[in-house]
Parts: sequence; structure tokens; C-alpha cells
Amino acid sequence: MTSRFGVSRMPFIVVFSGPSGVGKSTVVDRVLKHVSNFVSSVSVTTRSARGAERDGVDYFFVTRGEFERRRDGGEFLEWAEVHGNLYGTPAAFLAASLARGANVLLEIDVQGGMSVRERYPDAVLVFLVPPDLETLKARLRGRATDDDEVIRRRLENAKREIEYFKRYDYVVVNDDVERCADDCLAIIRAEALREHRTAAG
Ligand code: 5GP
Repeated sequence: MTSRFGVSRMPFIVVFSGPSGVGKSTVVDRVLKHVSNFVSSVSVTTRSARGAERDGVDYFFVTRGEFERRRDGGEFLEWAEVHGNLYGTPAAFLAASLARGANVLLEIDVQGGMSVRERYPDAVLVFLVPPDLETLKARLRGRATDDDEVIRRRLENAKREIEYFKRYDYVVVNDDVERCADDCLAIIRAEALREHRTAAG
């Protein structure tokens, strides 16, 4: 982006994390509709597809063997085991997107968030929290695609994950999807204007 003062903006990464069931995907989808020059990274996972999820769109679904092969080949910017499945962010897509000036949005867990921060210190980390634990439980139960054991594990993990919010730059409560997405948009718009992302001339 250029202005009459000859100012250009450096692309950046926005990480969204938060416990399962907080509504990350819905919020991120809404955010993506309102920002320009943002791409979202598609992760690789060993988990099976859920409901209407599509390979190459929601995730790249692979076997554990394939995941390990790619991981050992250094294909992931970061990877983590979450709820017994492996998830990884393809490094090449992210690097290529930034190189062509596109901002990148990542929806990853807290371990991933910490790894991204280490590798890209100017990444913006946003943590989404549910209004309360009861709401989270209700949302997880309402997702008919998961069985009781999966739900129990996700709730346990949620309690652990929420403790990480102090290490994020922003904490947004998802009590209402529209309002939550608005808050996230405000963060992104302000962050895009930060002085350190600006080059003159
Ligand atoms: P789900 O199975 O519900 O789609 O995702 C489970 C958790 O894994 C979520 O917190 C999601 O954000 C996270 N996740 C998805 N992709 C990645 C990834 O590439 N890396 C990491 N570290 N976490 C991921």
C-alpha cells in the first residue's frame, strides 16, 4: 500500500488461538471477509475430517506417517500435538505469502502461537476466550461430530490453554460473534498501521 508520502506497509502474521469450541473458525471466517490482502494458512493434520470439512480447504488430512515424513523434512514452521492428533503449519506457504506482500492469518493452538512468536517476533497474537466455561461446554456438546471422550479431552485441554492468554497481545471475549469479529478487525486495522511496519520512500 502506498500513500502520497511514499509510505509502504510490511506484511505481518496474525495468530488466533483459543480453546476448542470458542468459535475461532467462525470468527476468523468473518474477519477474512472484511480485510483485504490477507490469506489464511491451511494446516496439515493427522486428525480425520469432521462433518463437511474438505481436504485442502479446512486442513490437509494426512496419515501419521506422512505427517512425520514432512515434519522430519523440515516442512513445518511449527507443529504440535493437540488432543492426541498432530497439527503443523506449512512453512513454505507462509514465507511465500509474506514475500509477495500478503498478510497471513493462522488459527493454531497455544504451543504453535509461542513458536510463531519466537520465529516472527512481530507477529500479532490474539487469544479468543469464551464468556465462561459453561458456554464452552455447551458449545462443545452441541458439536454433534465429537464423541464424549473427545469432548472431555477438549475441555481438559481448554482449561490448560486458557492459562496462556497472558502471553498473547490481545484477549477478545467471544460472547457474540459479530462483536468479537469487530474487535478482531479493530486489532488488525490498528496493527497494520504500526510505525514499525511502515517503510518510507
Ligand atoms: P481442531 O481439531 O478442533 O480443528 O483443532 C484443534 C486445535 O489445533 C485448535 O486449537 C487449532 O487451532 C489447533 N491447530 C490447528 N492447526 C494447527 C497447526 O498447524 N499448528 C498448531 N500448533 N495448532 C493447530
